[in-house]
Amino acid sequence: MAQRVLVVEDEEDIAFPLVRTLEREGYDVAWVDTGQRALDDVAATPTELVILDLGLPDIDGLEVCKRAREAGFTGGIMIVTSRAGELDRVVGLDTGADDYLSKPFGLAELQARVRALLRRLNVPGRDETHGDPDGLHVDVAARRVYASGTEVALTGKEFDVLSILVANRDKVVSRGRLMADVWDENWYGSTKTLDVTIGRLRQKLEGAGVGEKVVAVRGVGFRLESVPA
Ligand code: CA
Repeated sequence: MAQRVLVVEDEEDIAFPLVRTLEREGYDVAWVDTGQRALDDVAATPTELVILDLGLPDIDGLEVCKRAREAGFTGGIMIVTSRAGELDRVVGLDTGADDYLSKPFGLAELQARVRALLRRLNVPGRDETHGDPDGLHVDVAARRVYASGTEVALTGKEFDVLSILVANRDKVVSRGRLMADVWDENWYGSTKTLDVTIGRLRQKLEGAGVGEKVVAVRGVGFRLESVPA
């Protein structure tokens, strides 16, 4: 089944070529021109990826991103912006977005980034289920995480980081490996992004009562520690 991509962009001149390009790539593409319509759309229709402009006429794109995550949206979010200097600031923020692209961008670049992001979100080759049914349970195929039977809402990046840690339970996973596997090679951000994601993941796991802990191993990486018997 085709993956669904929602384009959130108020400028037709930008939206049209983008939609056409993505359709040609075989995605099921929808387009909305306001933040509210975007939130309504992702709440109503399962969507793999949202391409989100920051400068929308009603709700600021960052706020749209935040509200979508709060409402439990777990697909990918790629933020695009033309605001001068905005991208550097936005990348370090805890926005819940998975990737960032600055305008103007080439359609070939967009295609490559979309493909890379969707590939990452699918975590290819990890189709089995990991976890302890009484505690943390990661359903890799469905991209869902449960703590004692209750679903924990994670962003795409949080899920990717957690599924790697769970697959390597009680072993250290290096920062370099997490950066390479979860963010693509041409990701230009610092590993601060990784720390932000880990911090958010810890909060969510703790909030859900998960006994296992994500422990930082100084200078090396992170380890998911089992609950002591
Ligand atoms: Ca705009």
